Amino acid sequence: MGIDPRFGRYPFFQGAQAAVRALDQSPAALIAHEAPAVSRGKERVERALLEGTTAPPDSQQHQTKTELLSYPIARLLVSLLDVSTAIDKYALAEARTARERFEADFTDDEVLQSTTRTTVDVQSALSELELADAVESEPLSASTHRSNRWYWVELVPYLQLREDRWGDQWRLVNQELANGAVRVRYTELMQLLEAAVKQRVASELPLSVEEAANGAEIIEGLSTHVADLQALVDDRPSVTKTTVDVVVPAMFPPCMRGLLQMERSDETLSEPAKFALISFLLTLGADRQEIAALMRCPADSTELAARVEYLQDGAGTQYPPPSCQTMKRYDICLNPDERCENIDHPSEYYEAAIEETDSIRDWRESTVED
Ligand code: SF4
Repeated sequence: MGIDPRFGRYPFFQGAQAAVRALDQSPAALIAHEAPAVSRGKERVERALLEGTTAPPDSQQHQTKTELLSYPIARLLVSLLDVSTAIDKYALAEARTARERFEADFTDDEVLQSTTRTTVDVQSALSELELADAVESEPLSASTHRSNRWYWVELVPYLQLREDRWGDQWRLVNQELANGAVRVRYTELMQLLEAAVKQRVASELPLSVEEAANGAEIIEGLSTHVADLQALVDDRPSVTKTTVDVVVPAMFPPCMRGLLQMERSDETLSEPAKFALISFLLTLGADRQEIAALMRCPADSTELAARVEYLQDGAGTQYPPPSCQTMKRYDICLNPDERCENIDHPSEYYEAAIEETDSIRDWRESTVED
């Protein structure tokens, strides 16, 4: 019997864990044979850290088996990463990806229970997340649009899932309470489901890989991938902001000029390249509209908006652009010049270039792009 396709989309479901066991393919064996699940597992973590999603890039589809097996590999990788915030970011990215998929799966005719084998409905998602007994839907009719649905969530799970950063509207004083339950809209239920997935994913992380069966083999086999991921997002507060806040594209380091040119020419940039370019522009103080204008992409691009929002991290904390060493590792150190010999970060290059130039003009004050 084939693997339930829902387990590829929701690999944190309990049934998915049983399906992994049934396949009887140990992580050590997958790593030793360089199975597709290993590179996909790395991609999961890479995209989680850089973009807040674990979905594959749009153009790529993977077999259910690869998606399913890539999840335990990603959990091993994120456990081996020595980056303080990696687990949080990874769990949040898995949860956001799951929420997008839930919203795509939950159809307006849910009242008819028209679930297929490839999708889930609200009730089965609640069951998988052990919330079925804690959430009750108000009576639905076939014409009730999703956004108009209301649910009652028991107080304890509501408080366990609600996060302080969600704001005042989530405080009990601002919610309708009755019989030990809180009344929430459909969109709020989606947010609670996202939080439940995040908690499920984060549970038991980091794994004690050393103590796992074949732990030493796993650590050795994943060492290159771990080093790549570690280098990609190194938490160095000193480079989160340049000391200059002017945007002068002609002074950009050659790598960023090259990536910008490729983006403008509609060449497909790799994920690390997009991350490097956008995070670099953000550190200069460019906003989303300015970044869109520089990259010559639509100002209302949802992809760009999502990337900018993610890189700014809600609290305004920016992800630093990668160091030169990391840029080299990802083959995006392009045409280094003499100045590159004395710096180890693209932001340092830019600061030096601006400092050495007598007269500069901010691109934002110009009506003509460079
Ligand atoms: S050495 Fe650094 S600044 Fe220079 S091109 Fe390479 S990555 Fe960019």
